[in-house]
Parts: sequence; C-alpha cells; structure tokens
Amino acid sequence: MGCYLCPRRCGADRTRAPGACGAGDTLRLARAELHFWEEPCISGQRGSGAIFFSGCTLRCTYCQNYEVSHKSYGIGITPERFREILYELKEKGAHNLNLVTADPYLAIIAPILREEKDKLGLPIVYNCSGYESQEQLRLLDGLCDIYLTDFKYADNSLGERLSGVPDYTDVLLRALPEMFRQVGACRFDGEGMMTKGVLVRHLVLPGCRKDSLAALTMLSDLVPIGDVRLSLMSQFTPNGHGEPSRRLTRFEYESVASKALLLGFEGYFQEFSSQTSDYTPDFHGQGVTK
Ligand code: SF4
Repeated sequence: MGCYLCPRRCGADRTRAPGACGAGDTLRLARAELHFWEEPCISGQRGSGAIFFSGCTLRCTYCQNYEVSHKSYGIGITPERFREILYELKEKGAHNLNLVTADPYLAIIAPILREEKDKLGLPIVYNCSGYESQEQLRLLDGLCDIYLTDFKYADNSLGERLSGVPDYTDVLLRALPEMFRQVGACRFDGEGMMTKGVLVRHLVLPGCRKDSLAALTMLSDLVPIGDVRLSLMSQFTPNGHGEPSRRLTRFEYESVASKALLLGFEGYFQEFSSQTSDYTPDFHGQGVTK
C-alpha cells in the first residue's frame, strides 16, 4: 500500500523500497542521546533526550545533518527497542523527549508514545520542519507538548529552490495554526524549562534577507506575539553540497534580528559569531543499540 502521510504524498510502497523521504517500513534512528545544543528552555542543564530519525521529507540543499537527511544514515530498530530508548533517555536525566525529523515514522511511533506518555512523565517535543500534513499533526494531537518547528521560507519558490518541494509556505501556514490549537500559548516551569507551546526557529540564510523579513511579518500576523517564542539563528555554514555557498553577513543577520525585536518577539537570538558546525552532532548510532 502506498504512503501518503506527509505533504509530498509520494505514494511509495515502503515495504518494497524507501519513499521520497528515504524511510522504509521500519524505524531507523541515527542517534538517541542527551543533547545540549537546543535552545536553553529545551536543553536546560541536563540535556534534551534527542532522538534523531533517519531520512527527511525535505531535501534542503544546505542541510547541516546531510548524512541523516539525504543519505538516510540510521540503524534499524524494532518498536520495542524504541520504547526502551524512551526510558533510557529518561534515566539519563533528560528534561524532555525530543523527536527530531520523525515525520515519516509517525504512524509507528505515535501509538507507542501514547501508551508510554503518562508513565514517562516528560514533555514531548516535536522537532520538525514545519512541512507537516494535517494528517501527521492529527497523530500528534494530545501527544505533543512542544512544537519546535522551523519557519523556513515565506515564499514557496524559495522552498522549491532550496528544499525541493513546491508548497513549503502553503503547508506551513496550515500547519502552524493547528500546532497552536493543540498546545496553546508557551508555558514554562519554575526552572525556566518549556512545558507547553510553540517555539519557532528561523535560520537566516545568505542572500535571503527579504524572505526572512517577510517570514517574521507572516508569523506575527498568524499568532499573538506573546504566545510564541522565536529562535532566530545565524549558524548557517555552507555544507559543501549546494547553495547557499557563502556565509551570512553581519548586516543580513542584524537587520532580521532588528525586525524581530521591533515586532516584539521574545525568545532566543543567536550571536552572529555562532557560525560554526559545532552545533551539529555527529551521527554514529549513539544510544540506538544496547
Ligand atoms: S512520509 Fe515518506 S514515503 Fe510517506 S508520503 Fe512522505 S515522502 Fe513519501
């Protein structure tokens, strides 16, 4: 039977061959470890229990996790092993469980998470591209506590050029209101850790300053600004696989950051000097097998 789960709707029979996202019919993980490089309200002192899934429904030319997203690096595991990993991360002290690019696997993991959520007692973070179908988001309703989503582009044509899909912005503008409907305004515990809400990431890309400015305006029109947190990122580094091939300039980043402040966004504004691959974990299947 064909898969039509994500907005690509490629119709692949995943029992025979991987779909356009690179995912087959079994779970594949690239890494399942404590992660300290998310925003402070997600990583905290003890780290976020980050589970990196193999493959991706987008094909961003500049992806910083190229081996995982484009080359589908990962280790196949059973649903039972996935269940164990959730508890192993909790035992390691994770503040939350952070599902990174889990889109192709939602039909497999959502029932497991539903069974374990109360026993785990940790917020579930859905760390995603913003390119999620309504069907995918329905699977997360009542399950996800925090949407940590990208807002990549304000214009479909840029999404087509850089991520290989014709409708990124259209899909995102349907997905964001549904995310907000499910989890509501941002909430934090006494230690400043996020417990509910939507945290929107925007990576400022070289040569795309006007699109970034438009993205901020779109987001401010979509949701009460005090209800959301923005994470504005300058960390783009050319990955050697495609455009953009140059670094971001200080002017590009600071003009976007100024606009975000002017609009009244709260959240995280990366230092301009953060252009480094240090934020990219290496992927060797850490924590995936016993
Ligand atoms: S999740 Fe993967 S296999 Fe399913 S429709 Fe999307 S790209 Fe195709």
